[in-house]
Amino acid sequence: MFIFDAHLDLSMNAMEWNRDLTLPVSEIRKKEKGMVDKPDRGKNTVSLDAMRKGNIGLCVATQIARYVKPGNKLPGWHSPQQAWAQTQGQLAWYKAMEDAGEMIQVSNKKELTAHLKAWKNDKENTPIGYILSLEGADSIIDLSYLQKSYDQGLRAIGPAHYGPGTYAFGTDSIGGIGKKGKELLKEIEGLRLILDATHLCDQSFWETMDVYEGAIWASHNNCRKFVDHNRQFSDDQLKELINRNAVIGMALDAWMMVPNWVRGKSTPESTGVSLLHMIQNIDHVCQLAGNSLHVGIGTDLDGGFGLEQSPKDLDTIADLQKIPGLLKDKGYRKEDIENIMSNNFIRFLEKNLPN
Ligand SMILES: [Zn+2]
Repeated sequence: MFIFDAHLDLSMNAMEWNRDLTLPVSEIRKKEKGMVDKPDRGKNTVSLDAMRKGNIGLCVATQIARYVKPGNKLPGWHSPQQAWAQTQGQLAWYKAMEDAGEMIQVSNKKELTAHLKAWKNDKENTPIGYILSLEGADSIIDLSYLQKSYDQGLRAIGPAHYGPGTYAFGTDSIGGIGKKGKELLKEIEGLRLILDATHLCDQSFWETMDVYEGAIWASHNNCRKFVDHNRQFSDDQLKELINRNAVIGMALDAWMMVPNWVRGKSTPESTGVSLLHMIQNIDHVCQLAGNSLHVGIGTDLDGGFGLEQSPKDLDTIADLQKIPGLLKDKGYRKEDIENIMSNNFIRFLEKNLPN
């Protein structure tokens, strides 16, 4: 079954983890044998090769670089200009993947239709499609840079990531969107970008809902009902997004799937975290919506974690092909399963991408 993944930090893996994503996952693991600089070394789950094996022919691929103001202890760049330059390096990698015939940017309706058709007819020889998204807007030095990014193909943007940002407060921080955040949202509306609500803290989330009227999705978010943390959406937030015709992508970061995960201590085996926990989150959104039209897949695999913090029944991203069977076991019909695996996000893009 064709799969759409709404959140992958592919260029971050290429540029900061030094992973050649054209290789099979097993080859990348071999190259990282003995490395200890990051907890997920040798435990990666994503490569373009594995995406192909899993029939993941279209994804949202990010640019991501945080600017940290003095006093902010999170890792990040010390000026917005450095953060911008980092995202430009990441874009250069996507462009090189396009030149190599590995990936193709999808930035409008026409390209979307053409890509889906090409993949259906000859997926062996069709590059993997990607919609360019920015996770955390700190690298947008001023609003003129948003136009620059749009011209480079940017089609979705999340104002915040972790901690306090320039335009909004993100995960594990508390605060509103302020004047800068409101100006950013106006510009997002003006450019008809897709707003990604993921990572907004509660206050910034609700203040955004007060002023923003454009297209909105949440690329990688799970439900607070199962793991009570500010990174997760409450039922009220999920309902608000559903009322705005959003699609919410379900993530596969283990700590967001089972409660009381302790980083570096809990393991997939000790907690029993599995793809069934994703099914639980998917089903909850469907129950809130009363249909299967507002939930999708946004795995975040290799988003700073690997096998050590992934479902125990997943070895590579190709294992996403196990999800349709699990949904079927839960009683989901074929049409609902296809909605969840790709069609909801595709319909969203058909409606919201430029012509
Ligand atoms: Zn994220």
